[in-house]
Amino acid sequence: MGCSKCGRPGVIFQDYSGLDLCPQHFREDVLHKAKRTVRQNHWLVPGRRYAVALSGGLKSCALLDFMRTLIGGRKDVHLMAVTIRNNDPGAMENAQSITEAAGIPWFIIPEVDAGIKQVNRPGAINKSPFPAHEQIESQLTLMAEELKFGTLAFGYTLEDHAAWVLLNVISGNMTRKPGYPDEPRKRARIIRPFMHIPGRELDLYTRLFLNGYDEKMQAENGIPVDNPVGTLLARFYNRHPGVPYALVNIGEQVKKFRDQVS
Ligand SMILES: [Zn+2]
Repeated sequence: MGCSKCGRPGVIFQDYSGLDLCPQHFREDVLHKAKRTVRQNHWLVPGRRYAVALSGGLKSCALLDFMRTLIGGRKDVHLMAVTIRNNDPGAMENAQSITEAAGIPWFIIPEVDAGIKQVNRPGAINKSPFPAHEQIESQLTLMAEELKFGTLAFGYTLEDHAAWVLLNVISGNMTRKPGYPDEPRKRARIIRPFMHIPGRELDLYTRLFLNGYDEKMQAENGIPVDNPVGTLLARFYNRHPGVPYALVNIGEQVKKFRDQVS
C-alpha cells in the first residue's frame, strides 16, 4: 500500500489510525506523538538539565535520538546520558558510540546488587510494576544530585506504560501521590516521552533511522520474558489492540483527578 499522506511506498500500517505511512511520514508521526506528550505534560523546562536512561538497547537509543531532536540547538536546556554498567558488551558499546556520535556527555554508574527486598520496601509506590525497572529507576533517580540533572527520561513504550497503569490501579497506588516519602535525598523527576508509542513502532523507528545499532542488538519487546503478567498482557493486546491506549488514557485521567483532590 502507498503512504496515506504522500502515496510513496509505505513501511507500516497503523491499525489504530487506519494509516499507511512511508519512512518520512512514519518518522514525523513518531516524533510528533512524542513531542505532543512532552508538551502536554509540560516536561520541557528552560534551564533544566535532562538525563536519558541509556541501557544501550533499542528503545533507549531511540530515546536519546528523540531528546536530541527535541532539545535541538537550545542553549538553555542540557542533555546527558546515564548508564548502569551491565554485562552486555554490545549494549555498552552501543551506548558509547551513540553518545559519542551525538556529542552528549555520558556517565556510567556501577551496578549495585540491592536485591528484591529493597525494591519492595513499603515506601516505594507508584513506579514501574517490574522489579527490574523499578530497581533501575530507583538507582538512577538517586544520581540526580551528584550528576546535577533534574529530569530523567525513560524509553517506556505504550505497552510498558499500560502495564504500569494496570498494576497501579489494581494495587490502589494510582490515587496516592507519587514519590519516596521516607527519603531525604533529592531525586530526579521521571518523564516518559514514548508512553503513547507502540513498542513495534519504536523497533521499526530504530531500524530505519538509527543505522548500525539494530544489527548489534536484539530487538526488545518491551516486556521481560520472565514476567508472567507482561506475557499475558502482550497476548491480550494482540487480540484487542485498543486496550493499551485505553489504559494509558485511564492512567492520565486518574492522575489528573488525584492532582485535583490532593
Ligand atoms: Zn508519506
